[in-house]
Amino acid sequence: MKVLKFGGTSVGTSKSLQYVKSIVESQTEPCIVTVSALGGITNRLIECSGRASNADPSFHDIISEIRTRHSDVIESVVPPTLSDRCKDAVKVLIDELELVCNAVALLRELTPRSQDLIVSYGERMSCLIVSAMIENSVLCDSLDFIRTRQVYGKSVLDSETTSALIQEKFKPLAGHKCVIVPGFIARDNEEHISNLGRGGSDYTAAILAAELKATVLEIWTDVDGFMTADPRIVPDASVIDNLSFVEAMELCNFGAKVVYPPTIYPVFSANIPILIKNTFNAEAKGTLIAENKSGRGVVGVSAIAKTCLISLVGAPAEWSARMINSLTRNGVETLMPNNKCQCGIHASDSARTMEILNGKFAEELASGIVRIELTSDLSTIAIIGSATEQMPDNAAEQFASALNCQGIPVAYAPCKASTGAVACMVPSSFLNQSLNAIHSSFII
Ligand code: ADP
Ligand code: ASP
Ligand code: MG
Repeated sequence: MKVLKFGGTSVGTSKSLQYVKSIVESQTEPCIVTVSALGGITNRLIECSGRASNADPSFHDIISEIRTRHSDVIESVVPPTLSDRCKDAVKVLIDELELVCNAVALLRELTPRSQDLIVSYGERMSCLIVSAMIENSVLCDSLDFIRTRQVYGKSVLDSETTSALIQEKFKPLAGHKCVIVPGFIARDNEEHISNLGRGGSDYTAAILAAELKATVLEIWTDVDGFMTADPRIVPDASVIDNLSFVEAMELCNFGAKVVYPPTIYPVFSANIPILIKNTFNAEAKGTLIAENKSGRGVVGVSAIAKTCLISLVGAPAEWSARMINSLTRNGVETLMPNNKCQCGIHASDSARTMEILNGKFAEELASGIVRIELTSDLSTIAIIGSATEQMPDNAAEQFASALNCQGIPVAYAPCKASTGAVACMVPSSFLNQSLNAIHSSFII
């Protein structure tokens, strides 16, 4: 059994859905097909919830647009015999979405729970369309088996409950050739709708692949494979034929959006290979992520666009561990912590970081011995070394000089960021130029 996952661009239009149909229907072994929302819909739902919370009536325009887009797609890809039923089922969901948004607009309040409910409609609608379009398929709803729990205000997978529920729900489906599953969406332990985070459909597919012992997890997207850099930013980027799990994990942790970072761990533990394939060019070989060796000094470059630098100015070096531990223990991921009381953080964690550090160093801050300095609008750029070959000894110097040659200012000098990565921080306005400079220096 295989698990195939199709992302937003793959299920974005009637034309791309035809590619999906032919890929799925040509499979010779049974498969589970995980689908994202139609491309761009999750962003529109977030926009819609924001407008509703401001009681801006134009949220209705977004709902109309979503209604029309789904109805047009159904019209062109779903067989006429199933089209009315599919339209009705999607209509029920959009009507419900409109009711929820009306409630948000009346209350002028958007809670994390209502936000999660609103974004869930994307995958709940797309899976209805895909299952009506694929012959002989059955639908199995992730809301019935992916469970999350709250940790430091974030939804994380409740692995144990999920694992038991997957076994229970999929046992009766064993004889089916194709099971369609919505990605991303989940329920929390109070049965409210939650999700696995932006890009989380990859993770849904990986959880299923690991739990049901698939032969392979295929991630079908809009590029020919995992590339040496994001091709939208670095035109010279090329496809990497093979990556080890560890290399892929490092590239994804440092922002390679092609796979959502938590995806790799479940399949890595179960030793199930991942194949990255292009829905629009199925002939291309793609990238195999497995336990093989890529054997290149630097396998690729990645970037996290929105990061900040946090410094505890005036603090002695010995306080570094205290600072970093207080953040990591409270669920804030630190990037490149050094022993000078400095580290990078994701921009989305900045308010929480300030809150934690203000609490932890309250006395020292009040007495004026130290102050917290937060530098925003920075991007973190990383080079990822091969898991089998040493990163070049002078990688940090070469990194700095590649940026320096182009006059790119550095907010945090290149340094070892993990076992296999060297990273630095630059002002976000230099992100694209920096990635190209680093890519030419290390890859080409
Ligand atoms: P999907 O909708 O299929 O989930 P995503 O947009 O999440 O697709 O991921 C695919 C995109 O990831 C590509 O279009 C590409 O711009 C981007 N990307 C970032 N880094 C890389 C990389 N190293 N290799 C390939 N694509 C990358
Ligand atoms: N639709 C969700 C998102 O846009 C999940 C996914 O596409 O993987 O983030
Ligand atoms: Mg994605």
